[in-house]
Amino acid sequence: HNAKEQGVDIRRYVPLMQMKAKERLKLENDLRRALERDEFFLVYQPQVQLSTKELVGMEALLRWQHPKRGLVSPAEFIPIAEESGLIVPIGEWVLTTACRQNKEWQNAGYRPICVSVNLSMRQFLQPNLAGKIAEFLKRIGLDPCYVDLEITESMTLDKEKAFEQLKRLKDLGVFISIDDFGTGYSSLHYLKNMPIDRLKIDRSFVAEVMEDSNNAAIVSTITSMAHHLKLKVTAEGVENEDQLQFLRQQRCHEAQGYFFSKPIKAQEFENIFLKPTIFGLPS
Ligand code: C2E
Ligand code: MG
Ligand code: MG
Ligand code: MG
Repeated sequence: HNAKEQGVDIRRYVPLMQMKAKERLKLENDLRRALERDEFFLVYQPQVQLSTKELVGMEALLRWQHPKRGLVSPAEFIPIAEESGLIVPIGEWVLTTACRQNKEWQNAGYRPICVSVNLSMRQFLQPNLAGKIAEFLKRIGLDPCYVDLEITESMTLDKEKAFEQLKRLKDLGVFISIDDFGTGYSSLHYLKNMPIDRLKIDRSFVAEVMEDSNNAAIVSTITSMAHHLKLKVTAEGVENEDQLQFLRQQRCHEAQGYFFSKPIKAQEFENIFLKPTIFGLPS
């Protein structure tokens, strides 16, 4: 056998797991350079108040334009970024970029709205997070009330640590939301005591809300509980009029989903959702 043939043979025996690890390592290395190579961008999805149909916020979502692979989904690269720790600088880029954009739009004279940013576990656990955010917002002149930080239930498993961190963030004046609510594990005790402002009902419940009576019961229960606890409640993944109608009946405050818009680039968001309101046209 010559070397070339051997090479082919060996590759055939590389276990699948190892191939995946190799692929993952490659992606991690690419991710390491993505920030400096300016390969990230943000897309924004509108959040609509159901009682008034008014635009009240937007969620900033991260996108990675890979030079060879094309657009890589966050579902694919966020877990790698989390495990490698790269999520900390990347998350900081997301937060500062989204806040700067929001301030820019306020400066342009558009009616102020809130920007939601997803925090990762590692970001959330940084001891100086609140201080860093406070300093940054002061520097760019954005009022903290226009910033919403989305965390997940799993980030609050260490109750004491989470409580302290949330308290610091709340004292700063930002809004706190629990993302993907209902998919994690959180006790009512925890909900009662955590300094949070809003529950975002996971889109898996909203998706089948008209077909699956269990989902309807879950959405209805979360909404009613939020009302009782004086929390805001937002439905994620609203794709059609029927779901919207159901959510309105439940007195859900806000909704987000493809029914209104997919997440879109800043310029497009400005053209479609911000510009019309400056001339007083219906949004
Ligand atoms: P998420 O925070 O729950 O964001 C909502 C996801 O649902 C987004 O997926 C959005 O595009 C999608 N979505 C919105 N409306 C609909 C709908 O009507 N139907 C369906 N089928 N999907 C809808 P995306 O952008 O792919 O992000 C996936 C997840 O990746 C996010 O879930 C979030 O957990 C994470 N992620 C995205 N950007 C960031 C970021 O900057 N930092 C961190 N830590 N995580 C992020
Ligand atoms: Mg989110
Ligand atoms: Mg999220
Ligand atoms: Mg979610």
